[in-house]
Amino acid sequence: MSVPTILISGGGPVGLTLAGLLDVGRGDCRVVVVEPHEPPRWNPAETGLRVYALSRSSQHALDRAGAWPPIAARRASPYERMRVWEGDAPGGLGSIEFDCAEIGEPNLGHIVEDVLIRDALLERLAGSARVRVVTGTAIDAIDVRRDAVVAALSNGETVRAQLVVAADGARSPVRTMLGLPTVARGYGQHAIVTHVVTERPHERTAWQRFVPGGPIALLPLADGRSSVVWSLPTARAEALAAASDEDFIAALEDATGRVLGRLGPISPRGRFPLQVLHAMRYCCPRGVLVGDAAHVVHPLAGQGMNLGLADAACLAGEIDRALVNGLDVGDLAVLRRYERRRKADNVDMLVALDALHHLFRLPGAAAVLRAVGLSVVDTAGPAKRWFARRALGLHLDCEGYRGTDDRAAA
Ligand SMILES: Cc1cc2nc3c(=O)[nH]c(=O)nc-3n(C[C@H](O)[C@H](O)[C@H](O)COP(=O)(O)OP(=O)(O)OC[C@H]3O[C@@H](n4cnc5c(N)ncnc54)[C@H](O)[C@@H]3O)c2cc1C
Repeated sequence: MSVPTILISGGGPVGLTLAGLLDVGRGDCRVVVVEPHEPPRWNPAETGLRVYALSRSSQHALDRAGAWPPIAARRASPYERMRVWEGDAPGGLGSIEFDCAEIGEPNLGHIVEDVLIRDALLERLAGSARVRVVTGTAIDAIDVRRDAVVAALSNGETVRAQLVVAADGARSPVRTMLGLPTVARGYGQHAIVTHVVTERPHERTAWQRFVPGGPIALLPLADGRSSVVWSLPTARAEALAAASDEDFIAALEDATGRVLGRLGPISPRGRFPLQVLHAMRYCCPRGVLVGDAAHVVHPLAGQGMNLGLADAACLAGEIDRALVNGLDVGDLAVLRRYERRRKADNVDMLVALDALHHLFRLPGAAAVLRAVGLSVVDTAGPAKRWFARRALGLHLDCEGYRGTDDRAAA
């Protein structure tokens, strides 16, 4: 019997991690990753604009895919504390602090550049006998047949696979080709991102303040600067994106309450529209969704990539299990196991973040209730530890998301 082929649309962090995990799986397969853009190379001299707060479960997934050692060696910034507040300054009523020491962990996660994750995975896969990454190419059309899916690529190539995985982001063309419906709603907000020099050191702490327009976060970078992720109503975000550096920094100091003192200079700014999106089904015969193709969440807790990497780890485990047992990897029964294991976790996070977004936009008396609520959680040890462990993805590792090897060992 010929070796099954798995076609992955999208060479983003989620698609490449899935490929890396399949490369080290016990079951034999061929993997083709199709990515329309030529990947930008990691620049040791400048921290890339897009950074993610990666949880422990994401670190484990990247480690298994062989990419964590080069990421850690180059530029991963561990953060040990997280301080969230709504009023004038952290520490008073309406604030909460998470410390890695409270849950016996060395840190609460790492801030890592998007370009570094991609670079490390691509370098790791370059020597693979199983995985072929085709850049500058997209899937133009797919024909789902009973025993295979046949994809026409924009470079003229035809790929016959047993399974196509949509890892091609929020606007996933392959999700549309598979006819998998979504529910989506725009937040009427954009996030502005930039890196900023701060007067006071960031103390390996992620700072997040809720201000009336939306949350603003300062994430600690390895080079001593902080990465700003600022969610704002669209019109205000457009105006600030076009403002002079001077005006932008003044607004930034105001929004952060100068928690890290005077700010500036800043790096170039980027702007991203914010929405919530969820696919009603994650799979169909011979097709499956992972990452932002399946779910998009508000960035206020920095969880979108973490959910996507958990999808990749879980799907890799299910595919590997099917390969080892001689099952058809495109069979709906195999794909439904993945959907069942991931959907509840994704929906929990999506609903919680959506609720938080709306809660923090309520004016008046709601502000008092929020302040009391945050302070109550801050003093309630078990509740706080539950939130921190969940944000780190520690509950996932307990359930064997690292793959078949761990389940076998457990
Ligand atoms: C401002 C902001 C801050 C965020 N911060 C965090 C954070 O701190 N932590 C966190 O966990 N998450 C964070 N997120 C969420 C995170 O960015 C996404 O969840 C994550 O990028 C999803 O990864 P992905 O690989 O699924 O999709 P993407 O990163 O969107 O990658 C999709 C890939 O598919 C490719 N593609 C596009 N079209 C096609 C096509 N036709 N065919 C094939 N491939 C295609 C793209 O080129 C890309 O390489 C943040 C999001 C925003 C907007």
